[in-house]
Amino acid sequence: MKLIACLIFGLLMTLPAQAGNRLDLPDQVTQGGFYVGKVTPGSALWLGKTKLKLTPEGYFAFGVNWQQEGMIKFRLVDSAGAEYPQRLQVIKQKYDVQHINGLPKKMVTPPKEVLARIAADSARVKKARTTNSPRQDFRGHFIWPVRGRISGNFGNHRILNGKPKSPHTGMDIAAPKGTPVKAPLGGVVTMVSDLYYTGNTVIIDHGYGVSTVFAHLDKAMVRMGQRLTQGDQIGTVGATGRATGPHLHWGLNWYKERLNPALVLGE
Ligand SMILES: [Zn+2]
Repeated sequence: MKLIACLIFGLLMTLPAQAGNRLDLPDQVTQGGFYVGKVTPGSALWLGKTKLKLTPEGYFAFGVNWQQEGMIKFRLVDSAGAEYPQRLQVIKQKYDVQHINGLPKKMVTPPKEVLARIAADSARVKKARTTNSPRQDFRGHFIWPVRGRISGNFGNHRILNGKPKSPHTGMDIAAPKGTPVKAPLGGVVTMVSDLYYTGNTVIIDHGYGVSTVFAHLDKAMVRMGQRLTQGDQIGTVGATGRATGPHLHWGLNWYKERLNPALVLGE
């Protein structure tokens, strides 16, 4: 019996990539990628030990950790209790090294007196990203918040004034100071603040753990709790916080996972 089980298992392992899955997701997903899947309404969906939140129609948001490798294992349980393991293969992304010089020293090695502020900033951002609202804006198609040259890619390893620093977890779009920045999807504003590193910063919640962040704004033109329609102006491009020139730093999150905004835009 054991031998037969092994043979069957061995046979399954040699089959080509699984043909389709019950999640309405691609069989291969990309590091830092954002996806919207769908299962039969009434099912339960698990990613490891985490039960994913499904809309009443069965939609769910999902993001791949930017450094994840190998297979992602889901477990789908249908309304009758039948279980279906679902596996997705992760495609690796290549991340470059980016040197940025000429930054003020206090922005590379912050003075002691601002460390408490930086920690408080970071806690507020984390809290804004735990928002788990029932909005379904995340199912829409993203538009560019501003058009311009991409001046910094997601995942770049950063060397600031010669010092290795944490990786770049957003996308930089260079544009003249004062250029309008627009909401890439509808949502609700969950943070408007002036932060040490990211300057004037806005976070928008798009529902089901999906949020976007806009940094270095010259002006933020929205308030906490404001509802936004896709394309509404949220502020203007600037160089506040740690920036060498006017640009928008745009970040996309699925809960705490930082995702690559370039992957949701298409060309
Ligand atoms: Zn940036």
